[in-house]
Amino acid sequence: NLKPVQVKLVLLGEAAVGKSSLVLRFVNNEFQENKEPTIGAAFLTQKCRLEDKVIKFEIWDTAGQERFHSLAPMYYRNAQAAVVVYDVTKAASLDKAKSWVKELQRQANPNIVIALAGNKIDLVQPIEESEDESTESGRQVPTEEAKAYANEFGLLFFETSAKKGDGVRDVFTEIGMNDLIK
Ligand code: GDP
Ligand code: MG
Repeated sequence: NLKPVQVKLVLLGEAAVGKSSLVLRFVNNEFQENKEPTIGAAFLTQKCRLEDKVIKFEIWDTAGQERFHSLAPMYYRNAQAAVVVYDVTKAASLDKAKSWVKELQRQANPNIVIALAGNKIDLVQPIEESEDESTESGRQVPTEEAKAYANEFGLLFFETSAKKGDGVRDVFTEIGMNDLIK
């Protein structure tokens, strides 16, 4: 069956965490160092083969700024999937991500698949001869802390770099798998 399975997906998260960059990496395999902020929201589509199916992602990339918050329900209301993004080098961005998750779990489609993505892992420098991740320089959100939160709230969890490409395809592939088995 070659008719694509459509997945409506929305990106949410604080401004400048890299939402648009993740989409640009997924759709065009590109990265822009000084990406201009999104106004309102941007719409993109991307097809993706998964096993014997074709998935067509219909992606709403929202603006993170507080002044656009009231528009968000228009984008998540009919969404089957949401990617809530934070920046691993900015602890406050995880708090903002948690408030989006809370809003989605209260107000979005009850079957929505939510993925939490900790972006900008390329900015984390592992310190040699240390096993302790809390000593990685640049990191403000430990992987284990975010993962534990994601498990508690039933979210898929990823760490990504839109800049280098790490983890980006996995976010969309796992969401696609989840939507196929539902
Ligand atoms: P948005 O407001 O969440 O859509 O964030 P943008 O995609 O516009 O990115 C904000 C800034 O962070 C831009 O200057 C990007 O180049 C930068 N950025 C985005 N993703 C990454 C990443 O994975 N690593 C690094 N180092 N910078 C990133
Ligand atoms: Mg943006």
